[in-house]
Amino acid sequence: MLIDTHCHLDFPPLVDHLEQYLTAASTAGVRRWIVPGVHPGAWELIARLCEQFEGLCPAFGIHPRHAAEGSDRHLIVLEQLALQGVAIGETGLDRHCGNLPLQEDLFRRQIRIAVSCQLPLLIHCRDMIGRTLEILHDEQAGQVGGLMHAYSGSVESAREFIKLGFAISLGETLMRRNAVRPLRLARELPLSWLVMETDAPDAGPHAERSARNRPEMLPGIAGELAGIREKAVGEVVLETGKTALRVIPKLETYPCR
Ligand SMILES: [Zn+2]
Repeated sequence: MLIDTHCHLDFPPLVDHLEQYLTAASTAGVRRWIVPGVHPGAWELIARLCEQFEGLCPAFGIHPRHAAEGSDRHLIVLEQLALQGVAIGETGLDRHCGNLPLQEDLFRRQIRIAVSCQLPLLIHCRDMIGRTLEILHDEQAGQVGGLMHAYSGSVESAREFIKLGFAISLGETLMRRNAVRPLRLARELPLSWLVMETDAPDAGPHAERSARNRPEMLPGIAGELAGIREKAVGEVVLETGKTALRVIPKLETYPCR
């Protein structure tokens, strides 16, 4: 099954023409989307969209960029809301988002919620690989695992995350001509630990702003991965889909109304 493990369908311009974007993606074969929360103000909209549109699965969390918005009150709300989602996130550490002690505190508190609710984690990690690994170990995040969204670290570090039960999520960076590191990840990591994402409408840390990322681009990423692995696209879709369902088990049963 073609699953987009990270897609901000609550962000403009996607949210303004959601039906149109989802139809295009469905036509291209995408069946499930994880819609990660980035700050408390977005949680209600995400919950509503995921009730309204089939195949959308919510996750609630606070992105390191919004660490300042993570008050005690919001963490209590997150605790109450957590089980309505398929995962906790996105959360993590980002060297380029300032106030690292605050980011770390919020990251740890979200991991604790994930562990107490037995929900996997969607991790955002930019240039903070070592510290992220340390904290995941420290907080025993291996009990729940999850995925490393838009992973940009080395193959060696990726293997450490995998040991902890975190799948490696690859996206549009695979489609860039000069993508040396993503190519290595795609080639060398076990396919049983890879998942795919568009991260739409964001286009990753180094993308050209002009190339607007859309949910229907997922099959292109699958095609790229298949080419690198010298496998049929169908096989890559099947394997990465199985991996996504294994690390985020509620993807299979959501919505459980
Ligand atoms: Zn994101």
